[in-house]
Amino acid sequence: MVKVENTKSIAMSDSIINLDHGDPTAYEEYWRKIGDRCTVTIRGCDLMSYFSDVNNLCWFLEPELAEAIKELHGAVGNAATEDRYIVVGTGSTQLCQAAVHALSLLAGGTEPVSVVAAAPYYSTYVEETTYVRSGMYKWEGDAWRFDKKGPFIELVTSPNNPDGTIRETVVNRPDDEEAKVIHDFAYYWPHYTPITHCQDHDIMLFTFSKITGHAGSRIGWALVKDKEVAKKMVEYIIVNSIGVSKESQVRSAKILKVLKETCTSETENFFEYGREMMKNRWERLREVVKESDFTLPKYPEGYCNFFGKTLESYPAFAWLGTKEETDLVNDLRRQKVMSRAGERCGSDKKHVRVSMLSREDVFNVFLERLANMKLIKSIDL
Ligand code: PMP
Repeated sequence: MVKVENTKSIAMSDSIINLDHGDPTAYEEYWRKIGDRCTVTIRGCDLMSYFSDVNNLCWFLEPELAEAIKELHGAVGNAATEDRYIVVGTGSTQLCQAAVHALSLLAGGTEPVSVVAAAPYYSTYVEETTYVRSGMYKWEGDAWRFDKKGPFIELVTSPNNPDGTIRETVVNRPDDEEAKVIHDFAYYWPHYTPITHCQDHDIMLFTFSKITGHAGSRIGWALVKDKEVAKKMVEYIIVNSIGVSKESQVRSAKILKVLKETCTSETENFFEYGREMMKNRWERLREVVKESDFTLPKYPEGYCNFFGKTLESYPAFAWLGTKEETDLVNDLRRQKVMSRAGERCGSDKKHVRVSMLSREDVFNVFLERLANMKLIKSIDL
């Protein structure tokens, strides 16, 4: 790979751009146009109690958020909500930990339950399962290599973060009572991927962050079939944070409601807007990567039940690789582009994860810098 640090021709802008985190600021423009329709007024006397609905197993879930979640899934057709418990969390980050905790506790053994995910995996799973040094579960890494006996939890992310592929379980022990799965559907929404069927798994995680881009609200939800699992998840959240901010829930409910209302509109459909934006970004990225040493995954088309046509996938992250033996994260860093190292995702130095959800100007600078790396390489030849 080219060594670009001393090359004068590349300086377009001096700022470091951070595409390591998937901060979804790309959608701000859409919500600016929606204007006051999403504005929520909260008075000093509102939302003071810890409790939202004492009759609900998840008593800190605001009923209007529960309603908005069910309506949105119904309209999009991406997940079944009937006969399951909704557990709200401070982001799906908290819910993933709650689910791992609940399943491990209910496994009831004395040995830690193994937790695995197929590489390349969402690197935060590693921190989520190791940080508190729990004795109840143990991160065992790549699910493709997992062959231990005993209880285990497989984290399945589909479409996958970081590489955008559609995933199913890879450990596959269908008759094993000790095999548990948590499905993370953060990106199973029509702007990223065709909605090919309505998901119907035991534990499904969703995040407000990656649907609309409101990551700062820190709202996620789990759709859980089993009552005991839901109960234990709720207990975890009570111990961890005694519920979830009501202000955030009320604001999320309002935005999800507007999202649902506009999703049949010809002019204001958020998913249409998001899909067009992602398509445009992916096409421009592929153009830069074309005829270079960089690589990007190819995705199969699928029939999207939401849009009623066959569509491509436009993942929230680009899983950028290189054909050369090089440390790509460092090559990009020299260009003042921060990305997530493939090694952190259980992969190699030749891959990085790059966020596709930055603001437009940042994305443009990224493309320019990438194009320059390619240009310098061809001059080298
Ligand atoms: N799961 C996946 C696959 C993600 O990419 C993210 C966000 N990066 C999360 C969960 C966490 O989302 P939240 O903001 O709701 O905590």
